[in-house]
Amino acid sequence: MRTLEEIFQSIDQAKPAMMDTWKSLVNRDCGSGNKAGVDSVGQDIRRFLEPLGFMVRFHEYEKAGNMLVAEYGDMTKPFVILTGHMDTVFADGTAAERPFTVQDGRVTGPGVLDMKGGITVMLYAVKTLLESGWNRYPLKIILAGDEEVGHGWSDAAQDYRKEARGALMAFNYETGFIDNGIVLERKGCAQYRFDFHGVGAHAGNNPEDGRSAVKELCHKALDMEALTDMAEGTTVNVGVIAGGTVPNAIPENAWCRVDVRFRTMAGIERVEKALKEITDKVYIDQVQTTCRCEVKMGAMERLASSEELFDKANQIAREAGLPEMKAIAVGGGSDSAYITAEGVPALCAMGVKGQFNHTVREWAKESSLTERTKLSAALLMKL
Ligand SMILES: [Zn+2]
Repeated sequence: MRTLEEIFQSIDQAKPAMMDTWKSLVNRDCGSGNKAGVDSVGQDIRRFLEPLGFMVRFHEYEKAGNMLVAEYGDMTKPFVILTGHMDTVFADGTAAERPFTVQDGRVTGPGVLDMKGGITVMLYAVKTLLESGWNRYPLKIILAGDEEVGHGWSDAAQDYRKEARGALMAFNYETGFIDNGIVLERKGCAQYRFDFHGVGAHAGNNPEDGRSAVKELCHKALDMEALTDMAEGTTVNVGVIAGGTVPNAIPENAWCRVDVRFRTMAGIERVEKALKEITDKVYIDQVQTTCRCEVKMGAMERLASSEELFDKANQIAREAGLPEMKAIAVGGGSDSAYITAEGVPALCAMGVKGQFNHTVREWAKESSLTERTKLSAALLMKL
């Protein structure tokens, strides 16, 4: 086994090859809706990993990009997860419109930061280590194909949790932050649509026959908002309401859409139970309420074990001469939620650093490509 210093030298020497890999991952359309594009990324990564000794398999989905799972070593032993996603938020045609470009230390192109740079970091960290005789832990690489749409078109969320079970620790190569923040906590998000169906009637001739769906909605909207608990880190927002047709009719129909943000799974479980009770409750006789969950992304809970992992990682980074990191909590979600849900400590946002992901202004810092690869190599050697 070579020394950390020698490993760092190999990473510096591999920079041109890393840039080529990064470029080839960026210069193709692979938005979440482009299954063929995402699956082609998966095949390229399979071809990269198999020669290194990984066993590669896919969870296949009909409508979404497949999930790649690559395993190295004796998987009956506690393993380390390296994870991320292969899809982007960009529409077909974007790769041709504004391809991978490097200028003044800034790299641009669709998904360059979120998260093709992170995939490149992960691939070269393991390549460099394995070619140097590293054999410290079994590894499991999990790359989702539909993260940007919250796995709404596949079973990837459940598959993620199954794959994460039994792991020792996890690193997610999501979008890195310019200030070297490492994410230990992310809020979860759920959205619901409520429909209210009452009895319409003429507001002047026979109002007594009407059963107002709007009135039912108003009672229930306040009940829903009252579920907010700032101390728990859970907020409920009735963001859109609509109902009725004209002022002179008792409204037969109404609907609303509700957004819930939560810091813990206990928080969303409490709210979901209460929303069900609100749905079943009847304020206005004969008005029926139905509820449908439209979006659900889990929270990456802040685990004590993640804090310990972060402290050790920061110490290793310092000793290796890499920049000081800081532990942060953010609002935006990631697949790390499925890892912490299994009680596995996770550090997220380990990819290349940059700004403005999900927009045309997205850019990544060129020098962070080798810096973050060195960080990962050091962590896998010393943790
Ligand atoms: Zn991402």
